[in-house]
Amino acid sequence: MTTPRKRVLLAKPRGYCAGVDRAVQTVERALETYGAPIYVRKQIVHNKHVVSELEKRGAIFVEENEEVPEGATVIFSAHGVAPVVYEEAKERNLRAIDATCPLVTKVHHEARRFAADDYDILLIGHEGHEEVIGTSGEAPQHIQLVDGPDGVDKVTVRDPSKVVWLSQTTLSVDETLETVARLKQKLPLLQSPPSDDICYATQNRQQVVKQIAAECDVVIVVGSRNSSNSVRLVEVAVDAGARAGYLVDFAHEIQDEWLEGATTVGLSSGASVPEDLVTDVISHLAARGFDQLEEILAAEERLVFSLPQELKRDMKAAAAQR
Ligand code: SF4
Repeated sequence: MTTPRKRVLLAKPRGYCAGVDRAVQTVERALETYGAPIYVRKQIVHNKHVVSELEKRGAIFVEENEEVPEGATVIFSAHGVAPVVYEEAKERNLRAIDATCPLVTKVHHEARRFAADDYDILLIGHEGHEEVIGTSGEAPQHIQLVDGPDGVDKVTVRDPSKVVWLSQTTLSVDETLETVARLKQKLPLLQSPPSDDICYATQNRQQVVKQIAAECDVVIVVGSRNSSNSVRLVEVAVDAGARAGYLVDFAHEIQDEWLEGATTVGLSSGASVPEDLVTDVISHLAARGFDQLEEILAAEERLVFSLPQELKRDMKAAAAQR
């Protein structure tokens, strides 16, 4: 009897998106330009490994501006902040650098615009997530959170002909469509956002995981528990037919019993995960017989965001002085 080859289907795209790359680079360049310590409000991106590497280089992660010494430099994370956070920074005389992903900023603009036109805004997202807190802070009087399809029953609006839905950027595409369908049953005149709020990176990572899931006994997603897009990838994999799905921060967390009887393992990583963590998982699986690696491509990604203006200006000035 021949032993079946054990393979890994490696999803592409996976890992870093343009917004995460920009946010991490913002902290790195700020450390070089201003010197340590640099304060970062909240985790710059939701990944344990990235945060601990930046800590080693002199970044100090805090929860609120009040923990930052007056006059120091603070970076706001990729998830975005409410306007009040900028005001607090100004009051404390902080040098604030905004690493909010431009695709989150786009949703903030939409929220401000619809609020200015006196719309009720239904923001589909996860309660307590930093991005949702930041977006809601743009127009708290106009925005109400809809936390998935089950949140629809609680929605009340002032004028059913003047309502729009927006969303968090890292949601499950399918679950969001379900929430919107239920909202439209309740509010037939509900308007949609001018363009997709769920970002290209979230959509592409979900798309390829869907493509491979049915062939996989197990799908492993590298990512942290507080990373919304990573958690969604596991859910998408299981919904699309994988027998099981697991989220791990590091290769050593993979339990041998997950792989018992498996011949095909799917592998992906969230948008805040550096590729070396995926490489570790590939080696871990190869050491357990999963040595046939096939990369499955769903989309090419070429988007790059430039660094925040305020940082670029100071980098230029520092370079001119050298
Ligand atoms: S996941 Fe999307 S919205 Fe979030 S940082 Fe990446 S590109 Fe931006």
